[in-house]
This record gives sequence, C-alpha cells and structure tokens, in this order.
Amino acid sequence: MRIDSRETFERTLKFVNQFMPKMVDRIEHYPGERPIFDLYGVEDEIQRALKKEVPLKSGGYLIVDQTEAMTTVDVNTGGFLGTRNLEETVYRTNLEAAQAVARQLRVRNLGGIIIIDFIDMVDEEHKRQVLRQLEKSLSRDHAKTTVYDMSPLGLVEMTRKRTTESLERLLCEPCPTCIGRGSLKTAETVCYEIFREITRAVRQFDCEKLLVLAAPKVVSRIVDEESAAVAELEEFIRKTIRFQPEDQYSQEQYDVVLL
Ligand SMILES: [Zn+2]
Repeated sequence: MRIDSRETFERTLKFVNQFMPKMVDRIEHYPGERPIFDLYGVEDEIQRALKKEVPLKSGGYLIVDQTEAMTTVDVNTGGFLGTRNLEETVYRTNLEAAQAVARQLRVRNLGGIIIIDFIDMVDEEHKRQVLRQLEKSLSRDHAKTTVYDMSPLGLVEMTRKRTTESLERLLCEPCPTCIGRGSLKTAETVCYEIFREITRAVRQFDCEKLLVLAAPKVVSRIVDEESAAVAELEEFIRKTIRFQPEDQYSQEQYDVVLL
C-alpha cells in the first residue's frame, strides 16, 4: 500500500503496527511529485468504473445498470455476426463476459441481487461452462457470492453480499436536471406542456399579454416549428404571447408570466 500523504502514512503505520504488525513492511510512503492516481492509472479506472458500458476484448460489451432493487448486466456481441460460427462466437463472448462481470462487481462494489443477461446459447454444455466460469471468477471475491441456475430465458440470478456503498453511490449524486431519471422531456413535449399551461393560466387569471420564459432550445422550437400553433393559440385566447430564451433554465423548466 502506497500513500502519498505523509500524515495519513504515519497514521496508517501506527494502526498497522498495533493491529497487524506483520503487514508493516507493506506500507510505503510515496513522496513523488506526480499525483499517485496518475502514476497507477486510478483516475482513468474510476472514469471507466462509472460508465455503463464495459468493452470486452472479443468485441462485445456489457451494460451495467444499477437500479433501486437490483443490478442488471446485459451481455452484447459487438455488431454483426456471421451465421456460421454464431454459437461458438456467442459462447466465447459469454465466457469472457462471465470473467468481466465478476471483476466489475468487485471494482464497482455492487451488492444485493444481480441479474446477468447472457447472450442466448443453444448448447447445454456451453451454458454449464459459462456458469462454471462465472463461479470460478467469483471465487476470488472477498464478498460472499451465490450463483443460481440459468433461467429458461438465459438469465442468471446471483447475489453478492453488500459491504459498503457502491462506487457510484459513493462518488456520485442523482443528476439534478433529470432528477435521476437519466432522460429529459424533449423540447417538443415541453412546448405542448407550455401551451396547456397558457390555456390554464388565462382561464384562471386576467391579463393583457403573456411572457413565457424557457430554455433556448425550447424557445427556438416554439418560434420555428410551432409558430403556426402559437398563432392559433394567440387567436384562441385573444392575447399575444412573447417567448424569451433563458440560458439558465434546464430543458424542462419554464415560467408563464401574465402581464
Ligand atoms: Zn440527468
């Protein structure tokens, strides 16, 4: 274990001396100028461990998704496969995926229920070998894991004992723009939301004209593609509507101001 902070190094040394003296010569101070995370590629590894997609050497990739209830791992082959050696290619991709999944569970510190969606295989022996590879790769894990049989749809259910928070929960927070959904209402959807809000507002309150503040992308959609709809709406409510782009607004954010 190499530690770049002199203070942390000394504290660690004191702790190890007291509780596991045999390990003392494994603790080193790193006095170098270069950031220790750069030296060992930790920075890049963190970036990779936070991505959903994990590339496989065989050209395939995994998609790792952490939800409230469980983690799902989807195994994909890369691009088009010929039909001749399909089963063999799928089998090899799944074997590699089984090793990669075990590593990702450790690196990302994922616990609880994990569902792995391997690519469909016909050969029963291949299925057994993939399960065996998964179990073998998991045997190096310090956390307790249990793997169940492959379901008829090719899903493997497994559990991994939860220790601390996952890497993502530790380093990230839900995106405030999409409130953790991972997607935003399209500019088109927001346009029609604004139109409905306008009709609602003029029915409730008196005003001469309206001012709408919205994200630039939404406003440009309204004045370009929706200009006919705006004209129709203005005629219907018998008031003029002015649209003003606000750089600070997120795509879903808007205000209808009655003037
Ligand atoms: Zn977001």
